[in-house]
Amino acid sequence: MSDGPSYVMPENVSRTLGRDAQRNNILAAKIIADIVKTTLGPKGMDKMLVDSSGNIIVTNDGATILQEMEIEHPVAKMMVEIAKTQESEVGDGTTTAALLAGKLLENAEKLLDRKIHPTVIVKGYRMAAEKAVEILKSQSVRISDESMLKNIARTAMTGKSAEGSKEKLSDIIIGAVKYVGEGNSVSMEDIKIEKRKGGSIDESELIRGVVLDRERANAEMPNMISNARVLLLDIPLEIKNPETETRISVSTPEQLASFVASEEKYLASISDKIIKSGANVVFCQKGIDDVAQYYLARARIFACRRISRSDMEKLARATSAKIISNLDDLKNEYLGSAELVEEIRQGEEALTYVRGCKNPHAVTILLRGGTPHIIDETERAIRDGLGDVIAALKSGTIVAGGGAIEAELSRQILGYARTLGGREQLAVQEFAYSLESIPETLAENAGLDPLYIITELKRAHESGKSTFGLNLFTDSLDNTLQAGIVEPTKVKLQAISAASEAATMILRIDDVLISKMQKKHDEGQYNME
Ligand code: ADP
Ligand code: MG
Repeated sequence: MSDGPSYVMPENVSRTLGRDAQRNNILAAKIIADIVKTTLGPKGMDKMLVDSSGNIIVTNDGATILQEMEIEHPVAKMMVEIAKTQESEVGDGTTTAALLAGKLLENAEKLLDRKIHPTVIVKGYRMAAEKAVEILKSQSVRISDESMLKNIARTAMTGKSAEGSKEKLSDIIIGAVKYVGEGNSVSMEDIKIEKRKGGSIDESELIRGVVLDRERANAEMPNMISNARVLLLDIPLEIKNPETETRISVSTPEQLASFVASEEKYLASISDKIIKSGANVVFCQKGIDDVAQYYLARARIFACRRISRSDMEKLARATSAKIISNLDDLKNEYLGSAELVEEIRQGEEALTYVRGCKNPHAVTILLRGGTPHIIDETERAIRDGLGDVIAALKSGTIVAGGGAIEAELSRQILGYARTLGGREQLAVQEFAYSLESIPETLAENAGLDPLYIITELKRAHESGKSTFGLNLFTDSLDNTLQAGIVEPTKVKLQAISAASEAATMILRIDDVLISKMQKKHDEGQYNME
């Protein structure tokens, strides 16, 4: 054994240890939370994001902001993951989740400064999170009628750019969810959002069936088919495929003619297979050659080409068709059905409507708006609303919004902390204080005095007004449950558990090893393995 230092890691690994690692990580998380903070709530501001190729996004949506930013710090990336999970699990509450995680870490730092060990904090946070779930359930109210659902949709959209049309849009959301199904069977998958530039948001509409941003491949084809038998193809109805194009050398005119003839023969034969299948509508994910178009048109078949994969999947669900990749094993039962397939032209634009689908659950929200930025932001607001209404239907319960539920959770968790001995008590308390950051930020973003609001809010909750929160329609403290400012329990459950899981995970890290050489090719990500 030599006495010299032993190098176990390559030089290019930078290492941060112990308290420094924690300090860095907490700082990164706080920065992320601060970025989304000003967007929280109906009076939150929007952010303008411009990417390296100059594309502009104007948004208020926490998940979108974090996803679009080029974030490098590994802990900051974990914060982005919280927002993404929240978005995919429940579709709303992303800002709340990120903000809460940041606050939990900020408050943990105070305890670390007081030499309280991270494992103690982690334990306290876990105990508090479990308690929070219990309290959330006891504070939940069952949904009794449709007006409550509408309130949820409205609350989700308040303060977004869709605000001006929120009545119309919440009707569309409720209608879509109603068509799609009941209770647990509701799925976002059945709802298609089709965006169209031109007109105003108020001209948006809900259509039963699937609407495609496509016209028929050839004007010779019929523009309307009733009793449609729908074939879905994900292979090209053409010969040349740009990816596999090969060179063919022809030296004589005869050779060329025979080559063209054989090509045409092939196209005729595949068209024939389609015609024989009994299909009268074809949706193809790839291209359709002119020759194939000619044969299909002659057989009075309506065909659209270059349909996106996600639309193909929606069509499959809606019409009960199977997506076919091989025309040789075409069976009749693979065809789907719809009462009517038609192309509708309005000026320059043409859309294809597939109505009266076999599966009555398929619906399309046709969104209109003046500019792409407005349409995109409206879509995000609608997705939040849909996510919330679906989440509310699934769990069947709601809680009071405007910071009411957070204030009540905070009060009850503080009470719980007092029953505990040991140092975990301090962590449970900090968890409770962290929750206050939601009403506090709502007030701050609305230009109200956060200190005053929090004091008054606490007083109200101490006196048993458990559904009191901030009503930002009137800028006053109010029974938000009665005022219709409500959110699904599920969104809050997910936000609190995601935030505390992320915070505790980050707190348990005391050694960060970053290998600098292995920057992943073009993304510039650190390799954390
Ligand atoms: P998130 O991404 O967390 O959903 P939002 O910007 O959508 O963030 O804000 C949600 C918060 O705004 C919730 O706490 C909700 O209760 C609150 N909120 C919505 N509408 C109102 C209102 N009219 N008055 C007070 N608070 C509201
Ligand atoms: Mg929201």
